[in-house]
Amino acid sequence: MRLAPGSTIGIIGGGQLGRMLAIAAAQLGYRCHIFDPHEAPCAADVAADFTRGSFEDAAGIAAFAANCDVVTYEFENLPTAPLDGLGDKLRPGTHSLTVTQDRSVEKGFLEAAGVRIAPWAQVDDETSLAAAIDRLGFPLLLKTRRFGYDGKGQAWICSPGDAAAAWEQIGKRPAVAEKGMQFSGEFSVIAARGKGGAGAVWPVSRNIHDGGILRRSEIPPGPPIEDQEVEAVQVASMIADRLGHVGVMTVEFFACAEGPVVNEIAPRVHNSGHWTTEGSVTSQFEQHIRAICGLPLRDTRLIADRVSMDNLIGSDVDQWDALIGEPGAHVHFYNKGEARPGRKMGHVTRVG
Ligand code: AMP
Repeated sequence: MRLAPGSTIGIIGGGQLGRMLAIAAAQLGYRCHIFDPHEAPCAADVAADFTRGSFEDAAGIAAFAANCDVVTYEFENLPTAPLDGLGDKLRPGTHSLTVTQDRSVEKGFLEAAGVRIAPWAQVDDETSLAAAIDRLGFPLLLKTRRFGYDGKGQAWICSPGDAAAAWEQIGKRPAVAEKGMQFSGEFSVIAARGKGGAGAVWPVSRNIHDGGILRRSEIPPGPPIEDQEVEAVQVASMIADRLGHVGVMTVEFFACAEGPVVNEIAPRVHNSGHWTTEGSVTSQFEQHIRAICGLPLRDTRLIADRVSMDNLIGSDVDQWDALIGEPGAHVHFYNKGEARPGRKMGHVTRVG
């Protein structure tokens, strides 16, 4: 059933992704209600309602959801138990969260689906770390199973002497060890799936990272990524179907000699899809709102030959005065307050 304009969309999480979802929802006539533990999350600036509450608080989430016609989320590190009672009102459902919030579960899911991933091993203690090193060799990347983002909770191991420090660095938490992959580029597929299973996928972007944080996305991605696009899109669509996902999701890839290798899945709109707001007929944010509200998905074509998106990280945002006067620059500031190092403060999209 199509949710009529005037209905209320609940968004769990009040960061910049929630903010951009709420802006897109407002254009379609929906009211958004943000649920977030912080005092003044940046999504609340642009939403009709805001409830401050803990993601652990099942009763609080149930009361919030009772006032919403549909509920979605903007990040994956949420406890699932308080969300289980929401049933079909929660889109995407908790299955997409359960699979993607734990790197070990996610890798098991991808292997069962026959998807190419980096050789890996589960690491629970120093003994299993030593076994992983024996099997995978060097270099390898140790990643915490849960709560990692923007390169946090990760440590490289390039020689036997690095192992103890890496284990210490990730807080001795349950982890996975991944073989360090040789790749000629990183890219992502942003895919939308409607309730009835209809799909829509954007052209892929080349993603340039620095210190584990996305700096820039470029479309078209150029070779050899372009040659891997068809296979990667098939893989991403198959993943969305197997998850029974409703909404937008993102699959990040390495372009390796053997073909596209999946790095990770995000069950949500994604930083590497911000370019779609001005660079495509339909933004990832509008498409997500359409999918969860039962509206038809829209065209994902590019509207120019070239599009780029640059993140404004930390003090980059101090250039706001120059950027705001640049002809052709589509500037987004998130109003997150203090510009701490590594914090995503805004982005700039250039089309054509
Ligand atoms: P992730 O948090 O998993 O997205 O990792 C952050 C960044 O670390 C990626 O964008 C890659 O640049 C790099 N990285 C992650 N896993 C690997 C790997 N197995 N081999 C080489 N580089 C990796």
